[in-house]
Amino acid sequence: MSVIQVEQLTKRYGDVLAVDGIDFTVAQGQTVGLLGGNGAGKTTTIAMLLGLLIPTAGRIRILGHDMATNRFAALARMNFSSPYVSLPHRLTVRQNMRVYGNLYNVRGLDRRIAELSAELDLGAILDRPAGQLSAGQKTRVALAKALINRPEVLLLDEPTASLDPDTGDLVRSWLERYRTETGCTILLASHNMAEVARLCSHVLMLKKGRVVDSGSPEALLARYEREDLEEVFLDIARDRRQAVDA
Ligand code: ATP
Repeated sequence: MSVIQVEQLTKRYGDVLAVDGIDFTVAQGQTVGLLGGNGAGKTTTIAMLLGLLIPTAGRIRILGHDMATNRFAALARMNFSSPYVSLPHRLTVRQNMRVYGNLYNVRGLDRRIAELSAELDLGAILDRPAGQLSAGQKTRVALAKALINRPEVLLLDEPTASLDPDTGDLVRSWLERYRTETGCTILLASHNMAEVARLCSHVLMLKKGRVVDSGSPEALLARYEREDLEEVFLDIARDRRQAVDA
């Protein structure tokens, strides 16, 4: 069953066609990667899936709900993390988690905060104001916030941006574990090709608002006769060559 269904999704900002009639689905438990250069339309797509931006055209269904008419039923079972959304600065990490936990009506909130704090190593920063954290600490807090309601659908916009390699690896392992334990469906926008190759079973290559290629990481490597996804990305971004069987 498709948990996320996107049809002919379009967003126009004045003269800029940020997302240009894209179609894709994400099946239950699948992790799909959204790749593309700066300005390709990844963040705009995620913002529309979250209902933060109204599409110019097209249709989004998540968990069976039409996001134009019935988004709140789906939003309660979703969550997201994005480096572009900052948490209220003066509230401590714990207070932030309480605010978001209450918004999602999380039961046993103190226990949930303690669990996430242990898993994401937030103990030392729980009682510090969110505005005083380093970029990497903010990223971990953003992930904890994204998991506060045990979402069935996770939209992750660059979830490991600004994490050091060790912490980035811990976060990826932790996402894998969360996915295995819960069957969570994930859409992941990332510039980290190793991360995408590790986490995603399917990849959408976005360029100027369009899906210009898609497939499993293995299928893309074979099609472009490349050994890593970074090279495939560069081939597509620079129009260097077409897929071998295109
Ligand atoms: P990045 O990798 O740099 O984060 P992205 O793939 O997330 O890029 P978007 O942020 O979705 O790209 O932007 C897609 C296009 O829409 C860009 O051309 C951008 O300049 C434009 N755009 C985004 N937000 C707005 C806005 N509020 N008003 C006008 N144009 C916008």
